[in-house]
Amino acid sequence: MGKCGQRYTQSRKEIVSAIAKYAQPVGIADLLNVLKELPQSSLYRNLTVLQEAGVVTRVMSSQDGGLYELAERLTGHHHHLVCSVCGDVRDVVVPDALEHDLDAALLRLAKREGFSLDHHRLDLIGRCAKCS
Ligand SMILES: [Zn+2]
Ligand SMILES: [Zn+2]
Repeated sequence: MGKCGQRYTQSRKEIVSAIAKYAQPVGIADLLNVLKELPQSSLYRNLTVLQEAGVVTRVMSSQDGGLYELAERLTGHHHHLVCSVCGDVRDVVVPDALEHDLDAALLRLAKREGFSLDHHRLDLIGRCAKCS
C-alpha cells in the first residue's frame, strides 16, 4: 500500500472513531467539525467505502447529507425515533419481548409475500419531545 492508501486508511479510522464517540447518529456538519483536517469530498468518499464495507450505516433523515452511525453488527440491534419537525434522530432499543413479537409478525408478513427475511430496519417517524 502506498502513502496515498495509508492516508485514506488513517482517515477512515478517524471517521469511525468520530462516529463512535457520538451516542446518536451524527451528521456531516458535526463530523467535519471533529475531523478538521478532512476535506468534505474525502469524508463523503470514505463514508461510501465504509458503508460498502458494512462498518457504517446511513440513517434515514431529513438532514442534509444524512446521518451516520456504526453498523448494527458493531453496536447491536436498535431502531430510530425520527423527528419530522427538527430532523433529530435518536436510537431506541426495543425490549426483547417486543422485539421477539415484532420479528414473529414480520416473518409472517415476509412469508406471505414469498420473501425470505434476514433482518429488519424500522424507523419511527413523529415529533420529538421538544417539537410536540
Ligand atoms: Zn424535533
Ligand atoms: Zn428490531
